[in-house]
Amino acid sequence: MNQYRCWAEVDLSALHRNLAWIRKSVGAGVKILSVVKADAYGHGLQQIAAALMHGGTDVFGVANLSEAGSIRRVGAGWPILMLGACLPHEIETAVRDDVRPTISSFGEARLFSVAAQRLGKTVRAHMKVDTGMGRLGIAGPDAEHLLAKVSRLKGLHVEGLYTHFASVEDNAAFSHRQQEQFRLLLKDLSQRGIHVPLVHASNSGGVLLERGSVFNMVRPGLLVYGIIPPGLRTQRIRPNPDLHPVLSWHCRVALVREIPKGTPISYGGTFVAPRRMRVAILTAGYGDGFMRSSNGRSVVLICGRRCRIVGRITMDQMIADVSQTPGVAPGDNATLIGRQGNAEITVCETAGAFGTIPWEVLTGITYRVPRVYLGAHAS
Ligand SMILES: *Cc1c(COP(=O)(O)O)cnc(C)c1O
Repeated sequence: MNQYRCWAEVDLSALHRNLAWIRKSVGAGVKILSVVKADAYGHGLQQIAAALMHGGTDVFGVANLSEAGSIRRVGAGWPILMLGACLPHEIETAVRDDVRPTISSFGEARLFSVAAQRLGKTVRAHMKVDTGMGRLGIAGPDAEHLLAKVSRLKGLHVEGLYTHFASVEDNAAFSHRQQEQFRLLLKDLSQRGIHVPLVHASNSGGVLLERGSVFNMVRPGLLVYGIIPPGLRTQRIRPNPDLHPVLSWHCRVALVREIPKGTPISYGGTFVAPRRMRVAILTAGYGDGFMRSSNGRSVVLICGRRCRIVGRITMDQMIADVSQTPGVAPGDNATLIGRQGNAEITVCETAGAFGTIPWEVLTGITYRVPRVYLGAHAS
């Protein structure tokens, strides 16, 4: 037992099993780029990067150069792809540190080419094509012409070509149109004699739902952490016994109180005890990332039972109804995400209560929540 008031447990064996399942599912010969942006989806970048290096990831995907630097400090030699666009003043650092940039325009490509020549390096660039995401990427009709131009720039080697699904978890038809557009471009390029070594499209949803879009690299994020992205299409996928949530989240019971009928609970008195109740004061709040917007919808596990959160969530504390849960005592664990016995609260359930998506729940667990590592290679 640890001494913390609120903490997250990160199971590195689960991470390994998830990566092994993804490997089996996409097949040998397909590279896995593990997405570790935003502190590895809130799991802790350094530990996750080390475990994924052991587990056999091929490439890392990051959102900024400082994340790339953290990975380099864990281990040398792994290719790192920057998934966002580099800012003009970051280009030189990216080139020097050998971070693969994502490039969406000829202007960016030229700046990289200039920097590479100045530094005597070769930039291994991944060109992005916008097939319907509407964020980064060259727009469809210009792509072929632009790629041909870029591939003639000095100091720049087009190592990868990719696109990104906008709603693969929900919309099959739209995702198929995205793929079709991407495939047409690949065909046109190959007719022009332009061959790009790495071609990729699939995020987690793509890996699960679009077998045809695996190409020779995939870019799972959420799936690496053992979570199936929620959506109209993914809800039909059977539970997968080979995937395990890596993170669980816990706090403690600080105090148990009996309160009479009519007692207002927490700020604003938005909840008033409808009867005599027993409540537990818990050591987590929105300062830890337990979102206040979940007022009235959240549950936690205490003594293996689901207990409702009542009244407003405050910065450091919140209040659970334990009237139906005998034996609750100060110091007991309260599980916000994870299992207690047969009871489970998934990150997707929490996301529903918070009115958001699992990605935001995980990346919203704040800095003051220590991550405790379990399983293989934990230290
Ligand atoms: C974040 C990200 C991913 C991973 O998405 P998941 O849905 O978490 O699998 C893949 N590709 C790009 C470009 C991303 O930005």
